[in-house]
Amino acid sequence: MLVRVEGLQDTVDRRSRAKAALAAWRARHPDYDRLYYIAHREACIARVTAWKKAHPERVRDYERQNNMQHPEREQERGRLHQARRRAHLRGTIVYQERRRIDKQVRRQRERAAGTLRPSQWKVIIALYRGRCVYCGRPGALEMDHVVPVALGGRTEMSNVVPACSACNMAKGSRAPLKPVQVCLL
Ligand SMILES: [Zn+2]
Repeated sequence: MLVRVEGLQDTVDRRSRAKAALAAWRARHPDYDRLYYIAHREACIARVTAWKKAHPERVRDYERQNNMQHPEREQERGRLHQARRRAHLRGTIVYQERRRIDKQVRRQRERAAGTLRPSQWKVIIALYRGRCVYCGRPGALEMDHVVPVALGGRTEMSNVVPACSACNMAKGSRAPLKPVQVCLL
């Protein structure tokens, strides 16, 4: 059903004609917006800022829509934010203090978890002829826990073998790289 309201159709027609005229004018002057912006940059920015301030919910909707269309941008922003946050944290005293305490606690826990004395460690190194138990190379040796400390392994003669730092790093907190004979003293 079509209801004709006097005057309304005229208004609609006038509006669509004006719209079409504006579009045609814009097509003839493709650089107008850009030039206008260059000439009135500050005023343009101020107007947009004011509009954004007056329509926070529209801005939010727009941003939400934009984020949905470009999830990778949102992720990138998140990554940047986290990186900045970490960089900031690293510079703070609270963070440094926490790191120091963590390290202290870890060392205490490691010490408490075993009874290996320095003299016993020397005996172990001698038993393995000063060589890495995995690759056989001589040199600087670290204590490698056969059962990792993280899994409850203790620092004691029956759980510690000498390993070069490369092999120790490669092993991490996993099972030994190859079967090893621990000291059974
Ligand atoms: Zn090695």
